[in-house]
Amino acid sequence: MGEFDLIAKYFERPRGRAVLGIGDDCAIVAPSPGMQLAISTDTLVEGRHFLSTVPPERLGHKALAVNLSDLAACGAAPLAFTLALALPRVDEAFLAGFSRGLFALADAHRIELVGGDTTAGPLNIGITVFGEVPPGQALLRSGARPGDALWVSGTLGDARLALEVFRGQRSLDGDAFDTVRRAMEQPQPRVALGEALRGLATSAADVSDGLLGDLGHILRRSRVGARLAAHDVPRSEILRAQPASVQLECTLAGGDDYELVFTAPAGADDAVRAAGRAAGVAVTRIGLMEAEPGLRVVDAEGGPVVPQWASFDHFKS
Ligand code: ADP
Ligand code: MG
Repeated sequence: MGEFDLIAKYFERPRGRAVLGIGDDCAIVAPSPGMQLAISTDTLVEGRHFLSTVPPERLGHKALAVNLSDLAACGAAPLAFTLALALPRVDEAFLAGFSRGLFALADAHRIELVGGDTTAGPLNIGITVFGEVPPGQALLRSGARPGDALWVSGTLGDARLALEVFRGQRSLDGDAFDTVRRAMEQPQPRVALGEALRGLATSAADVSDGLLGDLGHILRRSRVGARLAAHDVPRSEILRAQPASVQLECTLAGGDDYELVFTAPAGADDAVRAAGRAAGVAVTRIGLMEAEPGLRVVDAEGGPVVPQWASFDHFKS
């Protein structure tokens, strides 16, 4: 099977809202009148971002999910995406599963594959997503103010727990492992929550590299500090059954969570909870933004927790 047959069989589908989709030199997409484009790219490399054990269908899901998560963090509505694929060989079982997982999530978010590039090489998946947002309403990392409440969606830490089981550093029974493995391999991007937080959240980021690291981006860009209540960071029952130190590391420094960490004015708790309900995801208050720069992590008694882990950085460690 050649490159063009492969594209036609696995990636070309009837055109949706795009003006021009796959098959020409460019795709053409028209955002809704008056809207601004939000654009983000994420690349997944085998051995770095995913293990060779991941089922192709889940890999297709995750490749798009991590990109949709960036749109969610900006409060943007998904429009279209491109796919740059490097494949070691034409493996039809892989392509069938990968494209099935990819399009299942694409359809769930009504986002359309409009183009891409296909080449031979070590397995590498680059996706660029295009979304739209009303002018001036994108959620940024830079808008947090002292006195704002700090929030996070969903639960954190399961993906990291799964990774540790894969690495042989920890063990879980079958059902628990399946659950945390799904969190790692099939994260749900919080697109509806991001849109519901427009005009409400003062800043937002998605948790991809670990809560401490991603919150750190908000602190730096907003020039504020924060007090984070480590014991309030939401976690699953499965993670709760682990030793306290494991819970702490997985929730604060785990990464691969794809939840949203965001800030909102002190009086907006009810509105934030309503946004969470409307989006079908739990939201939890985990701290307070402060004028004093830096992050102060405290335990249930208010004593300091000294984090011993850095967040993930591809060019360190
Ligand atoms: P060009 O020669 O202009 O780079 P290609 O021959 O690489 O174009 O690709 C032909 C068409 O197929 C283009 O419209 C391109 O966007 C699309 N395409 C290529 N690879 C993919 C892919 N993996 N997924 C979706 N569309 C793709
Ligand atoms: Mg090309």
